[in-house]
Amino acid sequence: KARTVLLATEKAFAADAVSKIEAVTSAAGYKLARLENYKSKDDLLKAVADADAMIIRSDKVDQAVLDKAAKLKIVVRAGAGYDNIDLKATEGKGVVSMNTPGQNANAVAELVFGMMITSARNNYDGTSGFELVNRSIAFYGFGAVARAVHKLAQGFGMKSFAYDPYIPAEKIAEMGATPVATVAGLFEHQYVSLHVPLTAETKASINKELLMKMPKGGTLINTARCEVVHEADMVEVFKARQDFCYLCDVAPDDKAAKEAMTAAVGDKFGKRLIFTAKKMGAQTLEANDNCGVAAANQIVAFFEKGETRFALKA
Ligand code: NAD
Repeated sequence: KARTVLLATEKAFAADAVSKIEAVTSAAGYKLARLENYKSKDDLLKAVADADAMIIRSDKVDQAVLDKAAKLKIVVRAGAGYDNIDLKATEGKGVVSMNTPGQNANAVAELVFGMMITSARNNYDGTSGFELVNRSIAFYGFGAVARAVHKLAQGFGMKSFAYDPYIPAEKIAEMGATPVATVAGLFEHQYVSLHVPLTAETKASINKELLMKMPKGGTLINTARCEVVHEADMVEVFKARQDFCYLCDVAPDDKAAKEAMTAAVGDKFGKRLIFTAKKMGAQTLEANDNCGVAAANQIVAFFEKGETRFALKA
């Protein structure tokens, strides 16, 4: 019987990306089962019973899903962050997990600049703004997205700084950014942009102490995950500093935290606080195609050639 690849996307891919994914799976002789825009976890639990492989986006793969997935061998997160996969549970069941690193980096980088310009020009409210040229931007994490932002920052004539303990300082310097030795060191710069994965170490790591260190016009950009920021501290910072800005791809899940931040800013034109309506960093035609097709190719390479280059570890 042909292998079944389940495309389980609570937030569906663009139709064009789905056809491209299907072209890859059908060329390999696999069946693509689609569970898109599903409303309840039960739908996912039912659909997964038949799947040999799964492509997901922000969809959660936890023990409950794995318990129903009798045939599952591989799950690929079409995107970068994989905090929605319980890697201990997949490993426990012998299921391989992968992401598609770098495939949406440019999409996120362009959004970072979109939000920076909107804020620097006072959300086009008719008042005078400022330019990005000669300003400094510091990256917390210097992986695929941060490097794509850095490349654009170079074009804008900005100065880049980066902290990433998993990349040698010389390599950061070679790429044209100045290595920074500590997380705190990043907060000496006007812009700090978060590009770390959500882990026990990074969760709620951006706190009041760090944010209060930022120079005048200090702006935090978050296209990583909301949870990396200590939200109660953020409210305090907004109250204490009239100059501080927070540009964030997706509002906090916690409605009270979102309302408290919005109330603390009182920013009618949305120049100090930007929340996207939903996570939009990777919501482009190109990123949908790149991530979806990469996921499908990785599944085929895994089954046909035993390829595990992008396998994730708990
Ligand atoms: P990546 O894996 O290429 O880069 C992550 C970098 O963070 C790596 O270089 C790693 O060494 C570094 N890192 C890990 N732990 C760290 C720590 N404690 N301190 C400092 N650096 C640390 O991933 P990426 O593609 O650049 O994406 C980064 C994150 O951005 C993802 O994990 C995801 O959560 C988020 N993301 C969001 C969107 C979106 O739609 N908004 C899209 C893509 C990625």
